[in-house]
Amino acid sequence: MAYAITRTCCNDASCVSVCPVNCIHPTPDEPEFGTTDMLYIDPAACIDCGACADACPVDAVFPVDRLRGPDTMYGDLNRDWYRDHPNDHAWGAPTFPRSLPDGLGPLRVAVVGTGPSAGYTAQELLRTTGAEITMLDRLPVTGGLLRHGVAPDHQSTKRIAESFAGVFHDPRLRMYLNVEVGTDVTHDELAAHHHAVVYAVGAAADRRLGIPGEDLPGSLPATTFVRWYNAEPTVPADAVTLSASSCERVVVIGNGNVAVDVARILLTDPDRLAATDIADHALAALRGSRVREVVLLARRGPAEAAWTRSEFLALRQLPGVEVAVDSSGDSSAPLLDGLPQVRFDGSAGPAGARRLVLRFHSTPSALIGDDGGVTGVAVRRATGEEDVIRTGLVVRSIGHRGVPIPGLPFDGTTETVAHHGGRVDGLPGTYVVGWAKRGASGGIGANRACARETVDALLDDATARTLLPTPAATRKDLDRLIRSRRPDTMGLKELRAVDRTERTRGEAEGRPRVKLATIPDLLTAARGKP
Ligand code: NAP
Repeated sequence: MAYAITRTCCNDASCVSVCPVNCIHPTPDEPEFGTTDMLYIDPAACIDCGACADACPVDAVFPVDRLRGPDTMYGDLNRDWYRDHPNDHAWGAPTFPRSLPDGLGPLRVAVVGTGPSAGYTAQELLRTTGAEITMLDRLPVTGGLLRHGVAPDHQSTKRIAESFAGVFHDPRLRMYLNVEVGTDVTHDELAAHHHAVVYAVGAAADRRLGIPGEDLPGSLPATTFVRWYNAEPTVPADAVTLSASSCERVVVIGNGNVAVDVARILLTDPDRLAATDIADHALAALRGSRVREVVLLARRGPAEAAWTRSEFLALRQLPGVEVAVDSSGDSSAPLLDGLPQVRFDGSAGPAGARRLVLRFHSTPSALIGDDGGVTGVAVRRATGEEDVIRTGLVVRSIGHRGVPIPGLPFDGTTETVAHHGGRVDGLPGTYVVGWAKRGASGGIGANRACARETVDALLDDATARTLLPTPAATRKDLDRLIRSRRPDTMGLKELRAVDRTERTRGEAEGRPRVKLATIPDLLTAARGKP
């Protein structure tokens, strides 16, 4: 029986490289790879060896006859993809590991960030060279969006962290957590201690709607909401309130995967979330939540929605939640087949049952309210008509944007570090990877190919010898410098202590971990105090 790839596919193509018959596509060399939601196994070519399932970092691959519940459709989805994309599974040109010139010595590379793009960068450097790596993060815990972005009910996606843990434990890697580059150490100081510095800092800010009332109390960016339920320690426990009667309806603006995550978390039975690593404060708030209805607001139609099909299908199947489409706009699309159409009246209170309303072709023109909080969203339809949706909580989920990094050039149009192919403009020996390089799009696995491109550029420069500056100071000098600025910096030993504390607390509650949600709590655990 052939294997099939399911919803949690992370697109990092680990499965592609181990498949002995090249039956998983699109491969990173094929044009569709840049746009595909997920990868697919051709059942006609699969030889049932299971190598892909073993290699998958997120447990997304199963024999078709073992698919259960909502996952059963993935047998057909994998097969059907090949109907539209016929493929003879021919191998591309072989590639060989790079050999660096003799006498180059170990490269010293600093990687700023510890999220997925940093993890893939360090993995690639350690795998292909004898490089010594310094990894830094402003928070006293690793993971970036893997810890603070991926939704708590997507535990299998978080399993990629296990492969990065191997990278973090490599004896050639030294870690400094709780150290902010640009504040505690400057770019020039990092550059003086390394041949190369790679920025893997993501896109930390939220995009702005630019409409009146955007910053009223009760209007939150999704970046805050997501960090709140994921226990990001800079977001306070009371950043989100769900217990007010005005929160019975929540409007989520945007139609991407983050909007889907936010809607799903708001509508999921908290008992199901209780088995995850959701922040304790978020679980308590969700248990006391008055939310009964979430309106997902899109300015364009369903065919243009930015969510991936698999994430939307999972949202449609949320137990105990009615999903309906507002009938006022043109909202026909195969993905919506079978969903009831309703005449949605935003001026009235929410309907009785827990429900999700999908409203398309509706552009928010203002958030209405006063210092006491938001009371509604004024919406303009494609027809030019306006109406107001009553709500006391708005989550603006319209994407992320990068923020300038002190000492680095910034491209205001793309909201990324200014670069060419990962080489930062005008700063030899400085590189960028991930969302800080590509802009805020693509799931975790997209960072693997991105990291390869940046590391290739770095190694090309190293091979040319003249293109990388020689470090003026040693690793010991850097250690002294960082400790003088941040005596409370943390390394691997302290990170392990945090991990142990969180897992031990989790075991007692039948959860993967109970996350420590404040910086003082993380630092206390780092010192070995439970
Ligand atoms: P996104 O995919 O860029 O989606 C942004 C959404 O906001 C789009 O629907 C966009 O609509 C809308 N939007 C933008 N400006 C707007 C405006 N002024 N008014 C109204 N709507 C506006 O961003 P995201 O959801 O933050 O996701 C970021 C990346 O992370 C994506 O690649 C996503 O797939 C990935 N991610 C993946 C997962 C997963 O795989 N499970 C989970 C979370 C995030 P228009 O199309 O009309 O511009």
